[in-house]
Amino acid sequence: MILVVLENQRGKIHPFSIEALVAGQKFAKNLNCDLAVLCIGEKVKELKSQAQNFKSSKLILAEHSLIDMYSADGYSKVLSDVITELSPKYALFGHSYMVRDFVPRVSAKLNMPFVSDIISVDFKDGNPHFSKQVFNAKLATSIEVSSDQALLSFQSAAFSSDDIEEGEPEAEVDFNVQLLDNDIKSKSEPEFQESSTGVDLTAAELIVSVGRGIESEDNLPSMESLAEAMGAEVASSRPVVDMGWLPPYRQVGSSGQVVSPKLYFSCGVSGAIQHVVGMKGSKNILAINKDEDAPIFEIADYAVIGDVLEIVPKLTEEINNSK
Ligand SMILES: Cc1cc2nc3c(=O)[nH]c(=O)nc-3n(C[C@H](O)[C@H](O)[C@H](O)COP(=O)(O)OP(=O)(O)OC[C@H]3O[C@@H](n4cnc5c(N)ncnc54)[C@H](O)[C@@H]3O)c2cc1C
Repeated sequence: MILVVLENQRGKIHPFSIEALVAGQKFAKNLNCDLAVLCIGEKVKELKSQAQNFKSSKLILAEHSLIDMYSADGYSKVLSDVITELSPKYALFGHSYMVRDFVPRVSAKLNMPFVSDIISVDFKDGNPHFSKQVFNAKLATSIEVSSDQALLSFQSAAFSSDDIEEGEPEAEVDFNVQLLDNDIKSKSEPEFQESSTGVDLTAAELIVSVGRGIESEDNLPSMESLAEAMGAEVASSRPVVDMGWLPPYRQVGSSGQVVSPKLYFSCGVSGAIQHVVGMKGSKNILAINKDEDAPIFEIADYAVIGDVLEIVPKLTEEINNSK
């Protein structure tokens, strides 16, 4: 059996969990086994009503007042109990902040390996081989698990939510959660959000991203006008943040946010690997750069070779005139 664990993000299944569910559906097919989907903790009913739209063998609901609020102690205890009872071959997660917090505890409790932040899976000879970036994304390593069971988390965009198989669970069961007050020794702060201003780049469908190619902070308003005309969020490369032109929560990349919008509109960004790991999962990438050899063009769907400072104001005007 494959187990996928869903996470609640402000009333909806976390987008990373949807991608983990796509992974789960593929694993179940390749390994010819059942797929169980676990809705755990806070607002299980919200997760359940959405998870009922996706194909699985079984939907498991783990509800208890002591895990109404997330805690690493509570979640790791309940998940360890679920895994002990169901004995899945693999338990799958999106690689979210919450998963980074509680899944290592499950790994330690059950003495089960945790392969985290996987970027792709190859089913060679029926056995999965996991690819993972190391040394700040400069190298990729291939991992094979020799133990009978493992915990696996997937980097955003390792699987595409577009590939989700809709349908319905074949069965639905309540898990008998056994928790005592003294199982919960730590209390979590309210849910971490990327910024205090409520900007959530990970949920943005359209992003205008600016790089050092905009040349000066004085040119930022022109890029922001394009974003406003498109109804997009503004993001940036790291130098733009380092120079103080935009706040850190706008940064995309290995030391910033990982985004996967429908359109990533890149303006004067070179496409260094540390930036690309944060946006390569975008459904469409349009890049403007005056250097035809800029690495960003290797992953761009649409390449515009030219001066961003000339093109963007004209484009903004066109968009505004067409409204
Ligand atoms: C440990 C570590 C972590 C890092 N983390 C991140 C991260 O999270 N995110 C990140 O972005 N970077 C990160 N970096 C930095 C990364 O290596 C690059 O230096 C950075 O992404 C480059 O930003 P840039 O593309 O804006 O600037 P540049 O590399 O300077 O590129 C500017 C681009 O603009 C083009 N250009 C110039 N003028 C124009 C014009 N008028 N019109 C059109 N194009 C023009 C140029 O041809 C060039 O391609 C990290 C680095 C390290 C070492």
